[in-house]
Amino acid sequence: MRIVKHAVPPLPYDVAALEPYIDARTLLLHHDFHHAAYVAALGRALETAPPELRSQSAGWLLCNLGQVPENLRVAVRNNAGGHVNHSMLWRAMSPRGGDEPSGPLAEAVDEAFGSFRKFRARFEQAGSALFGSGWVWLVRAPAGELQVMTTPGHDNPVSAGLFPILLNDTWEHAYYLQYENRRPDYLKRWWAVVDWSEAARRFARVPGTAPRLRARAGVTAAAHAVAVPPG
Ligand code: MN
Repeated sequence: MRIVKHAVPPLPYDVAALEPYIDARTLLLHHDFHHAAYVAALGRALETAPPELRSQSAGWLLCNLGQVPENLRVAVRNNAGGHVNHSMLWRAMSPRGGDEPSGPLAEAVDEAFGSFRKFRARFEQAGSALFGSGWVWLVRAPAGELQVMTTPGHDNPVSAGLFPILLNDTWEHAYYLQYENRRPDYLKRWWAVVDWSEAARRFARVPGTAPRLRARAGVTAAAHAVAVPPG
């Protein structure tokens, strides 16, 4: 059985590429230290885990937390979540981001929220109102419409059977150096770096929208939906 070596994927752009919306110092600390610490802690937690868990991806672990021994479950949930969520976040953003979704994702957003503007307001409001540290998400239920939700800590909606389309990090480490206590400003300015082509790609792979995946919907597709790119 091949043991998975969990690793931080490289940023898909330079650390300064998202300025002035996300400053380089924040992005460097966030990726090289915060994300790296979750990966290191996940590796430590799995050292004593059964081999069948050590051969699984972080996404699979999030989809199968019930199979993780109880004494390791909190550490795996927090740190596999930290690893998967941050890996998704780097790709959710791009220096060529901004603008609006198009195609089927745009239609689904309009259908669920009335308009893109209303969706943005809902997402910002949810992220601003989230107490403490957590994440704000655009998700899709396997056969349902789009929803905005928040999760505490590093919980990922995939553990509850929901498929992430877009996410933002509302932990203070994501914005405090630049935006200080003004989380709503960070959430509002962040739209300028959102990569809608990545969100559309995720949307297209949700079971229910892609016939190829519908056939093997469930855990396999869910783990696939939160796959970490190669390090
Ligand atoms: Mn973070």
